[in-house]
Amino acid sequence: MDKLYIKDIDIQKIHGKRVMVRTDYNVPLDEDGNITDDTRIRATLPTINFLLDENAKVIIASHLGRPDGKVNPKYSLKPVARRLQGFLKERANVIMAEDCIGTKVKKQIEDMHCGDVIVLENLRFYPGEEKNDPSFAKELANLCDVFIQDAFGNCHRKHASMIGIDGFVPSAAGFLLKKEIDYFEKAVNNPMRPVVALLGGAKVSDKIKIIENLSKKMDKILIGGAMAFTFLKAQGFGVGKSLVEDSMLDVVKNLMDMSKKNGIKLYLPVDFVVAEKFNNSAETKVVPYQEIPENWIALDIGPATTKLFFEALQDAKTIVWNGPMGAFEFDAFSRGTYAMVDAVTSSHASTIVGGGDTDMAFHKSGKTHEVSFISTGGGAFLKLLEGGVLPGIASLSDKNKA
Ligand code: AMP
Repeated sequence: MDKLYIKDIDIQKIHGKRVMVRTDYNVPLDEDGNITDDTRIRATLPTINFLLDENAKVIIASHLGRPDGKVNPKYSLKPVARRLQGFLKERANVIMAEDCIGTKVKKQIEDMHCGDVIVLENLRFYPGEEKNDPSFAKELANLCDVFIQDAFGNCHRKHASMIGIDGFVPSAAGFLLKKEIDYFEKAVNNPMRPVVALLGGAKVSDKIKIIENLSKKMDKILIGGAMAFTFLKAQGFGVGKSLVEDSMLDVVKNLMDMSKKNGIKLYLPVDFVVAEKFNNSAETKVVPYQEIPENWIALDIGPATTKLFFEALQDAKTIVWNGPMGAFEFDAFSRGTYAMVDAVTSSHASTIVGGGDTDMAFHKSGKTHEVSFISTGGGAFLKLLEGGVLPGIASLSDKNKA
């Protein structure tokens, strides 16, 4: 990475100074406001601990949910501050700020001890955050001497706190951001070969740029999920009532031609679990790909496909996975996705997994610790897979500014 990294910064610029860390603490909450998954908080602890070791005043800035530029207690970061205190224990005092900008917060930061942490209130309580208002960014920058970007999951968004602060203070990548980028680079741009992509999910149109980009880099691409039906229809097969994007048929045909030309092996499912209706208790059966009945919906890959994909993954040294193999939220159509969790965790490949649904499958199966790396970013991870640049990273200070 050619951007400034937290460890490259002259320690005198951090020691005892006000250091703002932009985190992605957009954590899921239940109806009572309790955090149901704190992975994103835990993932930022290396950066926070490093700064505490340097006796910095650590200022946490984050958004939570979609309060649409208005104060809404439902989206307060208070539960996050409590959870963070639970992680840091007596190592640091975690203070909840009254706001995220303004004189009151400035005073709270002035009064805090070095080696303490303050959690700013939700940045999205101000419309300036999502509108990338430079005056909002400047107010945030006024609160700190150094800015650390660790909100990987939000780096695809051009919001004030993501791209607006670097113009005012030195801005560097935190440990989480660096880890995300390093794993991604190793898996996609400089992989141990053979490298295999396992792609699923609902829409080809959402993933087409990813498939195009990966077809220049992977040795094999395995396509599952509803995307497969557009590929099958493009080859003239009937797909019943399964999800298809007719507008993408030509694009998909070109892509299949291009993959052939580039020597990339494109694997499509050879059988499916089909259902009469899209619900958990509908009648289901397994059929070969050429025999999807006219009025039935294919909702998962079948056992022969599971075996085919399993074998295609066995010799991989690197695996990149995004998107479920079927409508895995329903038990009746989840087998294919969980079989791929088993395939990936039993292989010896270095595996990177990303995208909201895919990491959910790992969490539900209790196998998160058996995979090399699960990205904390959904949209940001997808943008990288497309070969895109993340604005939240592009705007950081250059390395030579250390
Ligand atoms: P994406 O956000 O594009 O990764 O899509 C994830 C969604 O795709 C999940 O909600 C799945 O239920 C859905 N999905 C995967 N396979 C199918 C399928 N065969 N039919 C309908 N939905 C599917």
